[in-house]
Amino acid sequence: MKTFQADSNGFYGRFGGAFIPEILRPNIDALTEAYHRYIDDPEFKTEFDRLLRDYVGRPTPLYLAERLSKHYGAKIYLKREDLNHTGAHKINNAIGSALLAKRMGKKRIIAETGAGQHGVATATVCALMGLGCTIYMGATDIQRQRPNVERMKMLGAEIVAVESGSGTLTEAVDRALMDWCANPEETFYLIGSAVGPHPYPEIVSRFQSVISEEIRRQLLEKEGRELPDYVIACVGGGSNAAGAFYHFIDEPSVKLLVGEGGGKGSDSGQTAATLTIGREKVLHGSNTLVILDENGNVKEPYSISAGLDYPGVGPMHAAMADAGRTTPFAITDNEALQAAYRLTAMEGIIPAMESSHALAVLEHVRFKPDDIVVVNVSGRGDKDIETFLRAC
Ligand SMILES: *Cc1c(COP(=O)(O)O)cnc(C)c1O
Repeated sequence: MKTFQADSNGFYGRFGGAFIPEILRPNIDALTEAYHRYIDDPEFKTEFDRLLRDYVGRPTPLYLAERLSKHYGAKIYLKREDLNHTGAHKINNAIGSALLAKRMGKKRIIAETGAGQHGVATATVCALMGLGCTIYMGATDIQRQRPNVERMKMLGAEIVAVESGSGTLTEAVDRALMDWCANPEETFYLIGSAVGPHPYPEIVSRFQSVISEEIRRQLLEKEGRELPDYVIACVGGGSNAAGAFYHFIDEPSVKLLVGEGGGKGSDSGQTAATLTIGREKVLHGSNTLVILDENGNVKEPYSISAGLDYPGVGPMHAAMADAGRTTPFAITDNEALQAAYRLTAMEGIIPAMESSHALAVLEHVRFKPDDIVVVNVSGRGDKDIETFLRAC
């Protein structure tokens, strides 16, 4: 990959960087050094690949959805990240990052979580590797994501409820950063999306890039060509999209489409459609697009999907959308719900609420009959069943 790579200071054009308190500078430097030392190290790679294969269950299938294909008049493939251990793509990054943490001699992992998927993935790898685990989670999210909270408890994680603000992901990130400032030596902050200060967006994207690596190989096998015409993914912070896009970014024939959390509509004031209405600001360590109020303060976002309910977005996605390399669609709650029911009825797959935002993008494109389209199904919908049923 050549374009939309972070430069040595972590910038993707104007976006990115590492805007952090000085006390964290040594941590960020040590993380950058460890990442560069191990990412191409054969031993590290062997261990990472082995766990992805035998523990996570990779490669995940690339499934030709025949009824959906007929409905849309194109060949629609689903990349089945929902079949990963713990039910979403988050585990790919959690494993890679925890392996880095271990090599750095860290004994304690902290993480933030919104929907609870990243918390579960982190608690899982901490149990697997014998690491201490503290998860920060907004009090509101704890209420609306019960099953994931119980899973984290069973996995042995300490869960800290964050009561401040709206009690959602933004405040959980703030608290995790405070913890890291207070305990910089022994603690590894395992960020769950392609956000935060450099080098996090680069590290998370790289660990998730296994998704597009597999898509290329699987398409070659099934279609005799590595390149699809479209790749579609949902974006909260942007880790599953970064992974699904990674090995296609420098292939201009591949159109990259993004479904973000439109909420009640991008101009309704109740939205998380950052790429559509965001403005430039530093949030959680990097300069990116952020949803702001009229005074330039971070505005509380809204989406039916807890995993997309974030006022910022990863800097790589801000840069790609800004340059026109990706096309964002603000998918409303209703569109996402309809897409979830459509996939369930036609293919017998209940997608995560987040992934339903990617599936809904199919409604916005006029395909040609021989188009090959890959939709990244980032996770499974078990955690969202109550929301799905209540909405009908
Ligand atoms: C967390 C989550 C997302 C959103 O996060 P990204 O970093 O944008 O991928 C999307 N889908 C599922 C299933 C998730 O759990």
